[in-house]
Amino acid sequence: MQELPSSVDPARFALCADAIADAARELSALGWTPATSSNFSMRIDDELAAVTISGRDKGKLGREDIMLVDMAGHPVGTRARPSAETELHTQLYRRMPAAQAVLHTHSRTQSVASRLFARAGRVVLEGWELQKAITGYTTHESVLEIPVFPNTQHMPELVAQVDAWLDAGKPLHAYLIDGHGIYAWGADMAQARRHLEALEFLLGCELDLRRLSA
Ligand SMILES: [Zn+2]
Repeated sequence: MQELPSSVDPARFALCADAIADAARELSALGWTPATSSNFSMRIDDELAAVTISGRDKGKLGREDIMLVDMAGHPVGTRARPSAETELHTQLYRRMPAAQAVLHTHSRTQSVASRLFARAGRVVLEGWELQKAITGYTTHESVLEIPVFPNTQHMPELVAQVDAWLDAGKPLHAYLIDGHGIYAWGADMAQARRHLEALEFLLGCELDLRRLSA
């Protein structure tokens, strides 16, 4: 049972929880959240985020499957356990003031692409019209770089890798984790969904190109 701190408007929490559950159900229907994997969140305010509870089937989420965490990833007002990778969500909210929604999925395309590009440490997208779906990109002639970080079960290591990329001043619109999946985000849930769907499509195109030119 989620108890809300007095600072949180119940209507705001309900809106975020419903948006997360709706996105999770729809992305699950696409096959991007196999075997209860993946996690989703929205910023509530500067101190709190709403995130999926660990281990739930992402195809059957409702409002009761969403909980509050602070920006260190600790539960607030509930005994539920947040998704294992919650710290990666709260890191993005801390470091990117514009980020309002974070989506993490494990589609087959994302997983295969992460393995293929792991050695290079990044996917370089260039010449695709759909790059324009990423906020700030206005032409297919731009270069969109998506880093691929090594996977680890030790969250502080992943957090440090993302911090190092940002601290180096490199643009970050999404990232892959090797053999694992993708993180994408946006200034609202619709933008986060658009970014995720565009990247899924672009990664699929890159894989097809390699299959066909082998
Ligand atoms: Zn994951």
